[in-house]
Amino acid sequence: MDKKSPTLIERTKSYLKERKKWIQADKPLRTQSKVNDIFIKYCQPCQYYNGSSCNICGCFINTRMVVNKLVWATTQCPGTPPKWTEEVKELTKKIVDKRGNKITPSSPTQGRRRCCG
Ligand code: SF4
Repeated sequence: MDKKSPTLIERTKSYLKERKKWIQADKPLRTQSKVNDIFIKYCQPCQYYNGSSCNICGCFINTRMVVNKLVWATTQCPGTPPKWTEEVKELTKKIVDKRGNKITPSSPTQGRRRCCG
């Protein structure tokens, strides 16, 4: 571990910021397969992974589909440069249909699970 884990206040701020972004994007979720891929390929071997969370953002990192930063499809690695990126950046933009109604595109999986922080 190269970095001290963030304080509870820093973790809470990070969680609330990510949660707001996720809600604004209509709560898109990654699939279990994608969560596993990111965890195994990037987080598990990462120097900032402390066995339960990321030492940069403080969010919980694992392969479960709850209380896990990797589940929200709007999250990305806080490293510089990020080792993995959000999948739904384009989907977070509001789109106006032909009749002028604002619509928010959905990701392949959506839900209301708590999965970060
Ligand atoms: S989110 Fe990024 S910096 Fe944090 S443990 Fe995973 S790969 Fe490492």
